Amino acid sequence: MKRILLLTTGGTIASRLTDEGLAPGLDGEALARSLGALGDSYDITVRDILHLDSSNIQPEEWRLIARHVFEAREGFDGIVISHGTDTMAYTASVLSFMVRGIPVPVVLTGAQLPIEHPLTDGLDNLRTAFAMAAQGCPGVFLAFGRRVMLGCRAVKTHTTDFAAFDSVNWPAVAVVNGSGLTIREEAIPRVPGPCVLRDELCQQVFLIKLTPGLDPEIFDMLLRMHYRGVVIEAFGAGGLHFIRRNLIEKLHAAARAGMAVVVCSQCLYESSDFSLYQAGQRALAQGVIQGWDMTTEAAVTKLMWALGQTDRVEEVRGIFNESLCGEIQNRR
Ligand code: ASP
Repeated sequence: MKRILLLTTGGTIASRLTDEGLAPGLDGEALARSLGALGDSYDITVRDILHLDSSNIQPEEWRLIARHVFEAREGFDGIVISHGTDTMAYTASVLSFMVRGIPVPVVLTGAQLPIEHPLTDGLDNLRTAFAMAAQGCPGVFLAFGRRVMLGCRAVKTHTTDFAAFDSVNWPAVAVVNGSGLTIREEAIPRVPGPCVLRDELCQQVFLIKLTPGLDPEIFDMLLRMHYRGVVIEAFGAGGLHFIRRNLIEKLHAAARAGMAVVVCSQCLYESSDFSLYQAGQRALAQGVIQGWDMTTEAAVTKLMWALGQTDRVEEVRGIFNESLCGEIQNRR
């Protein structure tokens, strides 16, 4: 029987109705019990590590989860993490970097309806997550809506639909269909071990979604606030304004001040390429780092993680030039 560790962190899946609305109230034993007879197919160990709505899961909690995962890597065949859906894609991304090379499957899942609701999707999601965790493919994954995706490619795209997550710019690594759990091995990147816990993070990372006419002085403010990194979701394949309000000039100032600036697209699908247009080329000349086809969640958490490993922008650039766990398909 496969030994599966269930780490619970809260979220809707474990929520009950309170006077203030839904709040996490169920423990992991209750989640495991909901699997019914299926639970007998696995040797399940439960650890309740957090009881939070995932809006309250922040870098401190990421580190805690990462440590539990890292410590369990040898004692279990797979790890399932139950988690709220709202920030699950961030947690899945950051874990992919923090425990890169983990030798067992680590599968995050959750639900749109609490596990005690008669129409819950949680049961289905837990079943998929357990099946994936028992399959032995190493890596960090997110299971939802009968699909399993790479943790660093998952994005929450729906607030209530049961297919709440999409695997962006990367095929789902497994689907549940009439053949059971069908894994596409070729979509799972081989990440060389050994796994080393690298959980240092820099929290001074800001995300800017560009809007037409955005005041470039935002960069002065960020520098005053000691931000060390910025991810810019630029327009389309790679546009940012430089007439009247000159963002490019500010990128220059940010680079001189030692800030790491990563640019990607505010389009959800396909890749940015800042070499295409004049505006993008000017930004590149100021030393911005291309985010290519990364999800925003992966770009932000990778930058937090990279700045946690080094103070040097050139080293951050090197880290972004490499795909660590399938998060980027470098076009160069
Ligand atoms: N607010 C909840 C959370 O992220 C939503 C969910 O789990 O679906 O914890």
